[in-house]
Amino acid sequence: MLDNLTQRLSRVVKTMRGEARLTESNTQQMLREVRMALLEADVALPVVRDFIARVKERALGQEVVGSLNPGQALVGVVHKELTALMGGDLGAEASELSLAAQPPAVILMAGLQGAGKTTTTGKLAKWLSDGHHTQGGRKTGKKKVLVVSADVYRPAAIDQLKAVAAQVKVDFLPSDPSQTPEDIARGALDHARRHFYDVLIVDTAGRLGIDEAMMREIRSLYDLLNPVETLFVVDAMQGQDAVNVAKAFADALPLTGVVMTKLDGDARGGAALSVRHVTGKPLKFVGVSEKMDGLEPFHPERMAQRVLG
Ligand code: GDP
Repeated sequence: MLDNLTQRLSRVVKTMRGEARLTESNTQQMLREVRMALLEADVALPVVRDFIARVKERALGQEVVGSLNPGQALVGVVHKELTALMGGDLGAEASELSLAAQPPAVILMAGLQGAGKTTTTGKLAKWLSDGHHTQGGRKTGKKKVLVVSADVYRPAAIDQLKAVAAQVKVDFLPSDPSQTPEDIARGALDHARRHFYDVLIVDTAGRLGIDEAMMREIRSLYDLLNPVETLFVVDAMQGQDAVNVAKAFADALPLTGVVMTKLDGDARGGAALSVRHVTGKPLKFVGVSEKMDGLEPFHPERMAQRVLG
């Protein structure tokens, strides 16, 4: 079991009893512990460096008030900074999907194979058709949702989405590996328009790694669909690697948000900070189980807590 940040810092603080403020030397010592804790939580190294620099700037010279000791004071600064960087300073509405477009509002799902795109497509379809969607903090009612798969490389992927759609009782538009992804997208858009769907969610092919052909393909789907939301789906277990994957997707596509899956596992969630840092986009949802109701709006504060252990 890893020590959490408070435990780590309290050990350091024992060696400097009686200090009443955060100074260059005590802060330095404690920041080493913060650095270790963040790396253990899978925050990528360059992100950790930036973060430590920010915290140092905020922390130095801070008066340690009341019953706090320097360690507790620093944990406070770290927690506050981490929450802000996770998107806490963006306000609660940053995590809402903005579907206020001319219907059908298109949501494009992007990410590597296995990240959880198809599962998240089902979860989101359920979320929207159950009426959980909010705008400005207010529920906007049940949405009529259509899902389609543009993954022509794995017929099993199309079947998987079909099964998921049946499970959450939303309409599934069949597609076929003989079509091009662009044809599927055009057909789906047309179908959604003609049948007055509020939302069209397009699941896309993922690859095991980042490759250029895949990025070109998803970019052309983006251009064709003009989605209101382009969500990057990333596995929390991805750890350090999440940075490179997120960067590749953010470079190829104007992302609007991130969904981090598999937070029900052991991952400490440091990848959330890395992905946010690299993409600059808000985390909108987290996946917390394999089941279709395992989707929750993202809470910066909770994620900061999780990363700190
Ligand atoms: P895709 O290749 O990106 O479409 O990924 P899938 O949706 O097929 O998901 C890959 C695996 O991850 C499946 O076994 C899913 O059940 C699982 N999965 C997806 N999201 C979550 C989650 O939030 N928690 C857990 N525990 N498993 C998930």
